[in-house]
Amino acid sequence: MASSELVPRTTILRGGRVIDPASATDALLDVVVQGETIVALTRPADRDSEMAHGATVIDVSGCVVTPGLIDLHCHVMPGLGDFCVEADEVGVGMGVPVLVDGGTSGVATFDLARRAVIDHPATKTKILAFIDPNQLYLATKDFICHKLEIANDARNIDRQSLAESLDRNADIVVGLKVRACYTDDPTVSPFLEAAKAAADEAARPLPIMVHLGRFPHTPCISTPTLLAALRGGDIITHAFRGGGGTLDGFGELIPEFRDALDRGLLLDVGHSGTDFRFREARRMFAKGVFPHTISTDLNIFNIGGPVFSLAETMTKIWAMGVDLADVIAMCTINPASSIHRQRELGSLAVGRSAEVSVMRIVEAPGTVSDGYETVAIERRLAPVGCVRGGSWHAAHSLGADVAA
Ligand SMILES: [Zn+2]
Repeated sequence: MASSELVPRTTILRGGRVIDPASATDALLDVVVQGETIVALTRPADRDSEMAHGATVIDVSGCVVTPGLIDLHCHVMPGLGDFCVEADEVGVGMGVPVLVDGGTSGVATFDLARRAVIDHPATKTKILAFIDPNQLYLATKDFICHKLEIANDARNIDRQSLAESLDRNADIVVGLKVRACYTDDPTVSPFLEAAKAAADEAARPLPIMVHLGRFPHTPCISTPTLLAALRGGDIITHAFRGGGGTLDGFGELIPEFRDALDRGLLLDVGHSGTDFRFREARRMFAKGVFPHTISTDLNIFNIGGPVFSLAETMTKIWAMGVDLADVIAMCTINPASSIHRQRELGSLAVGRSAEVSVMRIVEAPGTVSDGYETVAIERRLAPVGCVRGGSWHAAHSLGADVAA
């Protein structure tokens, strides 16, 4: 090996405004990355010019630099069914170095999806996943597992096989994604109970992410029943969808929802095409109920709108009056801690793995839409790029004006 290959490549993100909610940082800092590790966070004035020698310097002045954004719910296993988008298109291509697949696959197909996408040498984005506890589950445009009633057939659960998969894939499976269907008894979802049992038996904490709302063809347990069955640390996605049954007819939190929040239930946006409503979010925010995490649920149905990207989804929450630092926390330290990866993800610190995102605040009047309602905005977050795997990846748009 040539000696030059022994020296890790150095990348410097120069002159950006670093906002890292986990460390309460909001300051102009250079972020210095060597190989795949953050080696310095320095004031630009203190910059060691020797460090810049031979380094790739990215001028990010005027930009916001954050810990690597994490999209906690998206669908990025293309080739498994027909529902997914390309991981690197919505990941590093949109300034998001870390994606969490939201249960595209059940147990029987997971290892193949892992090999084809997550571990594939061409994949640049770091991908983690929630796994569906069923043997056979795959997300498709026509909801085939619901149409064939596999998603509500208890024979689809194999506890031994599930436990082995959770063990075998412990490095990337961060939780279970449950479609809370029932079989005979509408007060119990055997799929949710199997997921809870598997999580209890696992050697590490595994949150359960549950979809709020219904599915075609298969019945689900009611929202109060679901909320009562979830544990602290579990995650409701599509939490601001409207008509989800968490609020009563007077706009008050139903008791089961209040109790679940008191136990530590976490709320995820999971925008999707029809699963985020400004109107519902306003009602929830007025009650002091905010998202813990902002995610997209990006798939082929919504990438062309109304979701578009994680940055666009962040812009929507920001436009609703949430502080920028809190919006960033909802896509960095909060998702990292919700999947128990806060020691490696979600914060910028020397010695940590270098996942770093860069966005630009575009000051210009415009609009955003939840698919139903259009809201006027004064500014938006636009992805510029990210560092992942020791390399700088410019985002599809607005990346060209950043010198690389
Ligand atoms: Zn989804």
